Amino acid sequence: PADKVKHDYQSDVARLRKIVINSLYSHKEIFLRELVSNANDALEKLRITSLKEPGLTEGGELNITIKAIPEEGGKGGKIIIRDTGIGMSPEELTANLGTLAKSGTSEFISKVEGDEAGGNGNLIGAFGLGFYSSFLVADRVEVASLPPKSKKNPSPVQHVFASSADESSFEVYPDPRGNVLGRGTEITLYLKDDALEYLDTVELAKLVAKHSGFSSSFPVYLYELETKEVEDEEAAAALKAEQAAKEAAKKDKKDAPEDEDEAVVEDESDDADKPEAAAPPTPMKNVTTERWSHLNASPPLWQRDPKNVSDAEYTLFYNSYFKDFKPPLGWTHFSGDSGDGVGFKAILYLPSQLPDEFWQKPMEYSPHDLKLLVKRTFITSDLGENKLPKWASWVKVVIDADDLPLNVSRETLQNNRFLKQLRGIIVKRLLQLLQKIEKEDPKKFDKIQELYGSIIKLGAVEDTKNREKLTKLARFKTNQRNDTSFDMYLENKKQGQEQIFYLGEMGKTAEELSQSIFAEKLIARGYEVLLLTEPIDEVLFGTLREYKKIPFQDVAKAGLKFGDEDPEEEKREQEELTEKFKPLIDWLKTEAKDQVRDVVISNRLVKSPCAIVAESFGYTANVQKMMSASNS
Ligand code: ADP
Ligand code: MG
Repeated sequence: PADKVKHDYQSDVARLRKIVINSLYSHKEIFLRELVSNANDALEKLRITSLKEPGLTEGGELNITIKAIPEEGGKGGKIIIRDTGIGMSPEELTANLGTLAKSGTSEFISKVEGDEAGGNGNLIGAFGLGFYSSFLVADRVEVASLPPKSKKNPSPVQHVFASSADESSFEVYPDPRGNVLGRGTEITLYLKDDALEYLDTVELAKLVAKHSGFSSSFPVYLYELETKEVEDEEAAAALKAEQAAKEAAKKDKKDAPEDEDEAVVEDESDDADKPEAAAPPTPMKNVTTERWSHLNASPPLWQRDPKNVSDAEYTLFYNSYFKDFKPPLGWTHFSGDSGDGVGFKAILYLPSQLPDEFWQKPMEYSPHDLKLLVKRTFITSDLGENKLPKWASWVKVVIDADDLPLNVSRETLQNNRFLKQLRGIIVKRLLQLLQKIEKEDPKKFDKIQELYGSIIKLGAVEDTKNREKLTKLARFKTNQRNDTSFDMYLENKKQGQEQIFYLGEMGKTAEELSQSIFAEKLIARGYEVLLLTEPIDEVLFGTLREYKKIPFQDVAKAGLKFGDEDPEEEKREQEELTEKFKPLIDWLKTEAKDQVRDVVISNRLVKSPCAIVAESFGYTANVQKMMSASNS
């Protein structure tokens, strides 16, 4: 027609489109995220504009609909994404979709073009490329758009922007269908042959859930067809009636998209006019019902006031968002500000199980359950160099920032101040949550210890900045009780006691350790001895060496001091005994000279006649075993 206006793309746009198609090939699914996010923006703009001009939102709910229409014969198909948002005039169609709207985009192009490998898709997948990502899946795109009737524009006309992937031009023309949209934008993607998987509504629903399901502030509906086999006319009619009633109910509530299509489509392959008697014995009939399923029924949980969210809701959200069907052990829902104006809302969860890889492949294990969103749109799970320390990497976090540029290059994102602070913010909240549970819920804290006890100790070893807090959270078995912290130990220490006693031997249980001859006298005299039963315990004790300035003493090593003895008298006693037993000691020294370095009279034994101990600066028997195991 004569009113079709043909435009050449700005050279940059043509270039960008090509790059996008080539470099993001393996991430083509992001098209949906981008288009839903644009639809969301358009609705948001309309909502804000309508604050001044309330008439703008008349006639239809603010929503997003997605419909997949396979071509007959299954050779192709299209996806239609609609919103009832602010729409675009023909000038805006040209300016917004035919030129580079964002300054950040140019920067992005040069980054990707500079990437010789040409397809660092992993990195790029995290970023917003906007409308052009349509061409990842479509060889032709048509955008019909109609701005709302307003005082400034009382009679808008629906226009179409149309472009094919291989063309260097696009067209803008009045929609021959007229103003059928009512208001907003409709994007029709004519799918490429290698993108037909997106006609599958299950796939589409998954993608929305993954990228934008919990993020759009407006309802997102997906058109779904369901074909059922029914036995006879009566059943078909019943199904039709049921469906019609549902539709009517929905329309009443005004929470379903408006649609011209029939609610029920009958498959006429079976001759419906046939008289009852002439029908085959079991006449089967395919009845296809259609419905709009609401993909994001509730507003994102993290955006709500924690006071109004029940425990059950937190658990349900956790189950579906993090795909972990065991209830979480605990959570904390918080908001904050990065200090330079970026506000955020977040929920941090403690899962009730650890992934197997955590201990199996400790070096490779990297968390994938930290979800960074910007204005409710998922951006990335990969914080790069800002990632959480390993000891904290198992938490599941959703964090939604108010304000981060979407179209930024990876380096810019990595250097973003907010991202740099993120790790600190999350670790701080995690520690607070653990401390709170320690104080308020001993039973839950037992569970935490069972699951994360070793990890807390690992953190105390590795994370020097948070060592003090983590050390306080650590628990040990002793000869007197099952769960002792260093602080509890110190409260229980005997008068005059100047050392924190501990004993560890690889592979031994607490029960076995408490029977050890090394601990005999201490235990008999009522001292508490920390029993190191986990490999990480010995590493932690080796790292800390003392707690609140009180040194650790391995009771299997020399240097043990009892607090309740008179050192002078002790020394005299020791000398007397050494004198008395000199012949025995000399005899033992010569007999065992290849096995031991020295033989001394000891005061640490109660029931056992003798013990072989390590030097205070030597290896303990435990470490010696480890050494010989790794040498063989
Ligand atoms: P961005 O969203 O980052 O601005 P896009 O390429 O995604 O970049 O979109 C370019 C512009 O096109 C948007 O800024 C907006 O003005 C316009 N636009 C895109 N989709 C829609 C839509 N569904 N409704 C109204 N305007 C839209
Ligand atoms: Mg966009």
